[in-house]
Amino acid sequence: MQTITVDKPKQIKQQKVLLLNPPGDKKYFRDYYCTKVSKAHYYYHPVDLVYLSGTISKLCQVAVIDAIAESLTESECLQRVEEINADVILFLISSPSYNLDVPFLSQLKNKLPETTFIGTGDVYREFKSDGFKMHDFLDAILLDFSTEDILDYLNKGEGEIINNVIYKYKGQIYAGEEIHGHGKFQIDTPRWDLFSINKYKFPFERKSKFASILTDFGCAYSCSFCPISTLGFKLRSVSDVMEEIKLLKSLGVRELFFRDQTFGVNKKRTLELCEALKALKMSWTCFTRVDVLNEDIIKPMQEAGCHTIMFGIESADEELLEQYEKNTKQSQMLEAIALCKKYSIETVGTFILGLPGDTKESTLKTLEFAKKLNLDFASFNIAVPRFGTKF
Ligand code: SF4
Repeated sequence: MQTITVDKPKQIKQQKVLLLNPPGDKKYFRDYYCTKVSKAHYYYHPVDLVYLSGTISKLCQVAVIDAIAESLTESECLQRVEEINADVILFLISSPSYNLDVPFLSQLKNKLPETTFIGTGDVYREFKSDGFKMHDFLDAILLDFSTEDILDYLNKGEGEIINNVIYKYKGQIYAGEEIHGHGKFQIDTPRWDLFSINKYKFPFERKSKFASILTDFGCAYSCSFCPISTLGFKLRSVSDVMEEIKLLKSLGVRELFFRDQTFGVNKKRTLELCEALKALKMSWTCFTRVDVLNEDIIKPMQEAGCHTIMFGIESADEELLEQYEKNTKQSQMLEAIALCKKYSIETVGTFILGLPGDTKESTLKTLEFAKKLNLDFASFNIAVPRFGTKF
């Protein structure tokens, strides 16, 4: 009798991916390709890792360590990473924390030489392929956290060119193009269960717990001092956003920080989102521009739970604002703040001091104007060159 042997289906081991925000001596926000440092005790979620947690969970087992939120020392973090024993570590890196990040990641790679190290952050948008010459620990670079390009790399990073990914394979570099989209996009609901939501703090929160959420990616404007202006601009559907917010509500979240750079830029969608939000009775804060906010959207926003709006005022010098393509006017700033007062919404103005072209006179003019604006909160920041900025 003839025996027929049938090949068993090949068992593909599911990879374990660790999303890592490394430790630091300050509360670095390494996310969204525009790193900042917390000026007090507040710390919000690294949105890159939040959204990658949903995307990567489609294919892999995912773990998260946010060493900054959890106040882990380097040695505590190293120990936690070793315990997780991941096949892949996808880490954040940033220019302000660079001198700490590089030795920490080198140390980690020495301990885990078989683990694949993928880096993302402002540093690699600047270095691109040169990153491999500078960082021995690096196996791949991810240039856009909002796409599924990372899945293509995890699936078939063996000599194919993949958009938004640059990687090493058998001693060669494969460099995909950096492409950010426009229009609409879909992204999987993040694995919020993997983040210690209680560890994050937000100065304007009125209820706890709070979560940071994106309803879009990039920005529709092109202010040339701002790295976000180089990321394209695309919108999530209201139904996807609401699915995420309902999940957050089921986890006890009552407060949201919309990390969209200009909330309300698409009026029709903003009205739909506000209508859907009303029933959930959440309270929230967002960023918008003084030339976007108007009577049509502010009332629905307030009825949907908005209590605080942050505006990038930047400077009182209209010529400087024009030079950097912000193109907002003092009159629009005054009107937007007055509109917020009318609807009892608190206001935060953020300012940039020291842009090339900002003089002692224009800086003093900005400070005087800040006092006149009748803001509830003001935040003054020093201009810093970043990848994609004009200076
Ligand atoms: S509107 Fe804000 S986020 Fe958009 S490019 Fe200008 S400064 Fe950047």
